[in-house]
Amino acid sequence: MAMRNSSTYEEATEIKPKKEGVMIKRSLNKRFWTVVNYKQRSFVLNEKFLVYYELEDDSSKLLKREEKGRILLETVHTVEIATNFFTKEEIGVSEEVWPFLLGYQVKGRDYLLFLCALRKEDRIDWILAIREACLNNKTIKSEFHPAPWISKNWACCGSTVRYSEGCRKCGDWASIRSLSSLDVSTHSNNTMPGEGTPGTPSSKQKEKIMPRTKVVALYNYKAIETGDLSLEKNQEYDVIDDSQEHWWKVKDTKGNVGFIPSNYVKEKESLGLQQYEWYVNDMSRQRSESTLKHEDKEGCFVVRNSSTKGLYTLSLYTKIPHPHVKHYHIKQNSRGEFFLSEKHCCQSIPDLINYHKHNSGGLASRLKTSPCDRPAPATAGLSHDKWEIDHDDLMLLEELGSGQFGVVRRGKWRGSIDVAVKMMKEGTMSEDDFIEEAKVMTKLQHTNLVQLYGVCSKNRPIFIVTEYMRYGSLLNHLRRHEQSLSSNQGLLLDMCIQVCKGMAYLERHNYIHRDLAARNCLVGTDNIVKVADFGLARYVLDDQYTSSGGSKFPIKWAPPEVLNYTRFSSKSDIWAYGVLMWEVFSCGKMPYGRLKNAEVVERVQKGLILEKPKACYKEVYDVMRKCWAHLPENRPSFKVLKETLVGISQRIVVD
Ligand code: ADP
Repeated sequence: MAMRNSSTYEEATEIKPKKEGVMIKRSLNKRFWTVVNYKQRSFVLNEKFLVYYELEDDSSKLLKREEKGRILLETVHTVEIATNFFTKEEIGVSEEVWPFLLGYQVKGRDYLLFLCALRKEDRIDWILAIREACLNNKTIKSEFHPAPWISKNWACCGSTVRYSEGCRKCGDWASIRSLSSLDVSTHSNNTMPGEGTPGTPSSKQKEKIMPRTKVVALYNYKAIETGDLSLEKNQEYDVIDDSQEHWWKVKDTKGNVGFIPSNYVKEKESLGLQQYEWYVNDMSRQRSESTLKHEDKEGCFVVRNSSTKGLYTLSLYTKIPHPHVKHYHIKQNSRGEFFLSEKHCCQSIPDLINYHKHNSGGLASRLKTSPCDRPAPATAGLSHDKWEIDHDDLMLLEELGSGQFGVVRRGKWRGSIDVAVKMMKEGTMSEDDFIEEAKVMTKLQHTNLVQLYGVCSKNRPIFIVTEYMRYGSLLNHLRRHEQSLSSNQGLLLDMCIQVCKGMAYLERHNYIHRDLAARNCLVGTDNIVKVADFGLARYVLDDQYTSSGGSKFPIKWAPPEVLNYTRFSSKSDIWAYGVLMWEVFSCGKMPYGRLKNAEVVERVQKGLILEKPKACYKEVYDVMRKCWAHLPENRPSFKVLKETLVGISQRIVVD
């Protein structure tokens, strides 16, 4: 047998093995033309190396196996659980496997090795054993990507920056409880690896990792796909596997096991106020007002996070003397007790709410009801690991509008979930590339982003299936409600802040929108605003849209570097965001009025900017101006913008 490497099983075992066993290894893809493959290998971990050998059917040949490769342990900087990114079919196995990853550096280059343990407990054993062997390494990373780099993207977060920091925090190697993606943080008792047999965690250690956190359902969830599990609001569930970001495997009290959307549950210990109907998290003052007014019930109330961090505000609707909403800060005295009026102090906020349910105690009304069930958030995909949607599961309803790619219709998925279906006109986009991208895009999830549920790509035309937004595009919404909105600057600012939050999420994930504008944002119930169509511009085939000289190119939203060199970045999104703020504060006017594209380009090149909309605070206009800095590096980030805008809203709108 030709030896690829000089060492044999005997040589490597000269150093006593700490752990050995069979795992599946994903090819390293050192050369970009090699096809990804998965192979079962026999692994041996000793003090210095992790060595892998060819697997042979006949176990008696064990001693003659060919070494396939080895990793010098002192080069390892990351050992973490990986997402279940690969399907069983792709790996070529029939049973579930348990992936983890090893990051290491050779000659200044980073490599990521994805390994799959064949049993779940085995994965933990391997991670702990490798970490223990590497505990004294000089560089141990603090962030990592839990999925591989595929088609110029990190498959976990969609980041297109190859050498970006990771999107997840690494566990602390010195602390057994912190296998990051397991998040066993509620088990506070730290045990150092090394207690017990080296490489094999004691049963006590395992106990701390295996019984996961208990979570409580915040919303009902109806499982439709096999493998998913229904959730009943307020019921408890045991988390079995939270290695995928958006879909966790849990067990209910009857012992049923299945996947659930992770944004529908909250860890029991950190549930806090979330268990109460009346708590609405960080709903803004403006949105709480429109929600309570919409309910139109005397004594209807919510408790929300105040715009001053750490404080809470009670928002209460009363019809006396005329329908309006009053806002009260919940204060704390020196003993830490909560009160709305100093005469009535309580140990906790729920106690305080309970007190005022029975006594108005100085409030405009006794607290009576809370708004009906809050709508459940969108899930990242319609089921776990699902982005290809079956045509037959979609019922197509009325037309919602039409745009660049064709008609958009409302639909129902499996008769129960509202969706919007974009029917892509054939020849308008490079479909294969987009379908690849859609897998990543379904994983982007934020309250202020329109959720991509998946695609129907088996038939033509292909459908893009997204979250349904009741009130359609922000641009039309602004135009339709100009009268009421123009006098409510607080609400307009709140819309901008919501868009900014969605964009800050994209920026954090190094994801560029490329076509941010009011027409590409959508409005839902309770004045919620979400950013849509992010990243789609890259797949448009129409030259008129993609080239800056084209008639459909969004010139009026483009900064100089895009007009000159088509150079898109998060900073070009910032420029477009400034224009979007202008659209919001002028209630849907066309930027630069009737100026032709060529005239707009000339103005922008000269450094002339849009004028202040009539109903717009100077402070808000100053923010727009910062977005229109000529050089991209002089524009703020979305993160900074968000803080600035929230600060302004605190000053101009009394909370
Ligand atoms: P395109 O991207 O092809 O230009 P748009 O996304 O602009 O198409 O959609 C056209 C119209 O369809 C929008 O202006 C809006 O009124 C409606 N629409 C699109 N997506 C949704 C959605 N998710 N929910 C509700 N309405 C939508």
